[in-house]
Amino acid sequence: MKITIVAGARPNFIKIAPIIRAIEEKQQEGANISYRLVHTGQHYDKNLSDTFFEELNIPLPDANLEVKSGSQSVQTAAIMVAFEQELLENPCDLVLVVGDVNSTMACAIVAKKMNIKVAHVEAGIRSGDMTMPEEINRIVTDSITDYFFTTSTTASENLLHHGANPNNIHFVGNVMIDTLYQNLSRIAPPAFWDDFQLSANDYIVLTLHRPANVDEEQSLIRLLEGIDKLAAGKKIIFPIHPRTKAILGQQQLHTENILFTEPQGYLNFMFLVKNSLAVITDSGGISEETTVLGIPCFTMRNNTERPETQTIGTNTLVGTTVENLEKVFGDFIKNGSKKAGIPELWDGKASERIIGILLNTFQQQLK
Ligand code: UDP
Repeated sequence: MKITIVAGARPNFIKIAPIIRAIEEKQQEGANISYRLVHTGQHYDKNLSDTFFEELNIPLPDANLEVKSGSQSVQTAAIMVAFEQELLENPCDLVLVVGDVNSTMACAIVAKKMNIKVAHVEAGIRSGDMTMPEEINRIVTDSITDYFFTTSTTASENLLHHGANPNNIHFVGNVMIDTLYQNLSRIAPPAFWDDFQLSANDYIVLTLHRPANVDEEQSLIRLLEGIDKLAAGKKIIFPIHPRTKAILGQQQLHTENILFTEPQGYLNFMFLVKNSLAVITDSGGISEETTVLGIPCFTMRNNTERPETQTIGTNTLVGTTVENLEKVFGDFIKNGSKKAGIPELWDGKASERIIGILLNTFQQQLK
């Protein structure tokens, strides 16, 4: 069985690492499975791409489509044109896509139109917010996926509700958490740990990159200045996403506690998160990691496609205003965090399950 694995952006790299590892383990057991790794080039900064390949021991891609940045449509179209050529030159039995970025949707469409089966890892999650490009990517991808791999029973139910064949929906757990467990013993403090005089449980980690929070310069500045005040003297480490950095430009911010850094590699970033007092973010993936690490997470969004991080885990949705954050964060500082658990099957074995199911499915079809 030949699989083409697609990855385009930072969260994708973190998700494919354990899947590739699971394939290589099956190969060693003699299974008839091979893969080709295609990097679409959606994220191309060293900080958002190469570092993850190096740190997570991901083999160099067999092809890089080098699409780079562009508007939603320009980027999606460029990926489709290049990926069609890639599949014509390198036929396969299955295209495996992960997550919800433009590469996920674009490559799923191309594969399906070439009558190649599509597997979607992290299928079925829904925020209900159609202003998010990711929500559109999820819905389109799942509408043409053959094999759905889900992180929660809620995601599986969403797919059933939209008419997916129950035999093709597999609740397997969370590949992002596979990577977390596989690398926990390797996490390490960043070089600035001593320079910034950080100590465990005494600083906050901040990440912001969603268009709703960062695309309007003045409201981004208000948000950052508000977050700076509520920290009550605690340091805030802010690895700034290139998208956010570009919008802030040369603006002078009136902040005292925020320490701006480059986007961090995975091992440094997870060390920062694991040792923090709390995380303020608009990332989906980080709300999953904080849930498993038991670190309080405050999500600057009105909705989440990962409700289990809130109902079971440590995540609290705070909306997008700094006033709400002030209130919720103030309560946390006064009363501490809620009791939290780890969602079902977030046990580090999702990738193994996925590859096992795919091998079984394809063997059945060959009989
Ligand atoms: N991440 C990282 N370094 C950083 C910020 C994030 O390694 O400076 C990791 C983080 O641990 C998580 C992933 O990147 O696993 C989330 O990426 P992002 O927030 O870009 O995507 P989202 O989860 O919002 O789709």
